[in-house]
Parts: sequence; structure tokens; C-alpha cells
Amino acid sequence: MYILNKLRNLSGWRSGTKQISIDATIPLISLPVLTLIAAQTIYLTIIVFVVTPIIIYHLHHNFLRFLPRSKFFLMWTITSVVMLMIIFELCVVPLLEIVVEENYVFMAGVVGGIFCGFKTKVKSDSAVQTDNLTHESEVVKASEEICLMCKKPPPARTYHCRTCQTCVAGREYHCRWLDCCIGSNNLRWYLGCLLCSSVAFIYGSNLTMTSVCHPFVLIGTILLPDDCSDVYHQLDLAVCLVSGIYSLLGGLVVLGYLIYHVYLIFLRTTAQERRISSSKNGCSGLLSSYFGNEM
Ligand SMILES: [Zn+2]
Ligand SMILES: [Zn+2]
Repeated sequence: MYILNKLRNLSGWRSGTKQISIDATIPLISLPVLTLIAAQTIYLTIIVFVVTPIIIYHLHHNFLRFLPRSKFFLMWTITSVVMLMIIFELCVVPLLEIVVEENYVFMAGVVGGIFCGFKTKVKSDSAVQTDNLTHESEVVKASEEICLMCKKPPPARTYHCRTCQTCVAGREYHCRWLDCCIGSNNLRWYLGCLLCSSVAFIYGSNLTMTSVCHPFVLIGTILLPDDCSDVYHQLDLAVCLVSGIYSLLGGLVVLGYLIYHVYLIFLRTTAQERRISSSKNGCSGLLSSYFGNEM
């Protein structure tokens, strides 16, 4: 318990009005370092890609989730996007294997993903502000239907988020990677972000890997990487390959989220409501509707 309190105190310090958190600076340092380590040999690439998610899980489980509102995952997203962009434009494009049009399609995906992600956050922030104003003006009624945290009766399909500390209409879950809640107010922008990001990640990965590895023609102009064995002899090519693998894995995860949300829309439900309905116990279902699980 003492160590936990110590970690909490260490995790942030105030300088003037801005708070700088140690947990938010971890991705800035660890992502480039991990990329360089993974670029040494094929075995280190495999180890880094297997071990990193396990370390992040334990970091979150034992430390980050006790912080009031950690920016670790948001910083991980921003650092990843910036790092992958820099590697693509400064290392992959100069290899002259990519035509200008391919770079434009990739950039359109990146810009679209960043814009939609930004709108997702802005729309969720404006929803929180409006929500807080309503809270102040409303008379608190003692009712079983009242949100135990906000002390106000939640409208239909509205659920409380402990991280955002407010009720969110049509709540899906709290997206740690964007550090905001996904609800009916910003779901469209979130889906746009998932679509553009998955295109940018997967297409960028394909362009990267076919540039640094020996490619073969799949159908028409679609290329796939064939032989990547020589890549580790040259550090910049190995860094490109690692970024390509990271981009592909990230793109597949984002695509998975997109398919999941399209499926939920098809079922006319939300992720939060599915969690509640899957909860067998009525009491725990009611509690989770108020306190909400997070993804
Ligand atoms: Zn609430
Ligand atoms: Zn939230």
C-alpha cells in the first residue's frame, strides 16, 4: 500500500498550472527504444511484439488504473502515429518503391484518422460540459433510478463513466487510446476514425513491407512481401520492417473494433447494453449499468 501511494505521488508533479505525469512520458521514450531493440534480429522482433502487450497489461493492472486519469494510452496512440509517420516519410518513401498516388492514399487515411479522432474527443468533451451544466441546474431527487454518482436521474440508454465522472448518452465504453467516452454524441466520428486508421495502418504496412522486402504480385497491382531475410543487415530497413509489422497489427486491431461496432449497429444495441444483458445476475447488471466497464 505504501509503494502504491509512493507511485501515485511520483506519477505527477505540478509545474505552474500544467501537470506533467511520468506515466504519460513512458510511451515517448519506450516506443522508439522498443523499435530499435526489435530492429536488431528477427528473434528480438518476435520477443518485443509478444512481451510488450504483456508488460502494458501488467503496468495498467498494477499501476495505471489507480491513477485519477492517466494519459499513458493517449500518449501511446499519439507517439505511435507520429513515429510511424516519420519512419514512413523519411525511411520508406526515399526507397523510391512507392508512387506519389500511393503516398497520397496513405496520407489521406492518416489525415482522416487524426481529424476524426480529434472530433471524437472534442464531441465527447462538449457532451461532458453540457452534461455538467444540466447537473448543476437540476434538483436532485431521491429515486431508485438516480445515477448514484451524478445524483441525477439518467435519461434512457445513458450510463455513468467513472473515468469521465459523468453520464454519457448511448455509452459504448471509455476508449483509453483516445482518453474519452464513446457515446451517441461521437460514435460517428469514432467509426470514421476506426475506418481511416485501419486503411492507413494496413495500407501503410503493405507499402512499407513491399518496399523493404522482396515483393511478389498477388493480383494486378496488389503486392505482398515475400523474402524479408536480408532486412536485418541494415538498421534503417529493419526499423521500416518493424514499423510495418506494428502498423499491420495495429490496423488489424482497429479493423476488429470497426467490425464489432458495425455488428452492434446491426443489432441496434451498444457495447454497454450488451455487457449488461450478458450479465446473468440482475443486481450486478444494474450496478454495471451505473458504473460501467471500461475498454
Ligand atoms: Zn452519472
Ligand atoms: Zn469515459
